[in-house]
Amino acid sequence: MTDTPPAGPVTRRAFGLWLGRAACTAALGGTALRVLLAPKEEGDGAPAAPRHGWQIDPSKCVFCDACASACVRTPSAAKALNDQRLCSNCVVCYGHITNLKAPSDRIDEQPKVCPLDAVARIRHSGGLDGYYLYDIDAAKCNGCAKCARECNRYGSKSMFMVIRPDLCLGCSDCAIARACPEGAVRRVPLDSVATLRPDHPAPNPIAPAGANRKPSP
Ligand code: SF4
Ligand code: SF4
Ligand code: SF4
Repeated sequence: MTDTPPAGPVTRRAFGLWLGRAACTAALGGTALRVLLAPKEEGDGAPAAPRHGWQIDPSKCVFCDACASACVRTPSAAKALNDQRLCSNCVVCYGHITNLKAPSDRIDEQPKVCPLDAVARIRHSGGLDGYYLYDIDAAKCNGCAKCARECNRYGSKSMFMVIRPDLCLGCSDCAIARACPEGAVRRVPLDSVATLRPDHPAPNPIAPAGANRKPSP
C-alpha cells in the first residue's frame, strides 16, 4: 500500500486518488490478511505450533486453469486477487474486458475476460476517463486465472492467484499441487504468508527475492 501521500507538489486530484486507494487497500488488504492469517490455537500456555497450509508461489504461477479444475472443492479454494497497491486503476483493464479498443463510454457493455463476471469495475474518481477500482468477487470466482493471466500479460501485474486458507480443506496431498504444471503450490507455514507478493517491500518467504511472475505462452 502507498503509506505516504505522493511526493512533491500535490494536486487535489492526485491527493484524492491517493486517499481513496489507501482506504480501499486498507479495506481489501485487511480482509485478505484476516482470511490468510487466522489466529493460532491457544494451548496450555505453550506457544502454538505454526499452522501449515497450501499456497501458490506467485513467482512460478503461469495462470493456467488447473487451479479451477483440480481442487477437490467446487468451486475451487483457489481465487484471484487484485493487489490494489499495484493496480494502475485503468479506464480499460486487461483483466476485465477483451476488447481493449473499446471507447471509454462503452466499457461496461463489452465482453468480459471473466466467464463468471466476477471482476467488478468501480468508478473511483473523475469522469469517464478517470480512475477505476477493480475488485474480484470471491463468491463468484472459480479460480480459472484468466483475469490474472491477462493482467500479467498486458497490464500492471496486480492480479494474482491464492489458495484461501478459510476455503481450503487442508488435504494432506493437495490435488492442485499435483496438477500444477509449474510446481507452484507448496505447503508452507501460514504465518509466513503475510506478504504474498515478491515485489513489495516486505519479503515474500515463499518466493525467491526479486522473482517475477510470468504469464503462460
Ligand atoms: S498455481 Fe499452478 S495450477 Fe494454479 S494457476 Fe498457477 S500454474 Fe496453474
Ligand atoms: S477470470 Fe477466473 S480467476 Fe479471474 S475472477 Fe473470473 S473466475 Fe476468478
Ligand atoms: S488442499 Fe485440497 S481443498 Fe485445499 S486447494 Fe488443495 S485440493 Fe483444494
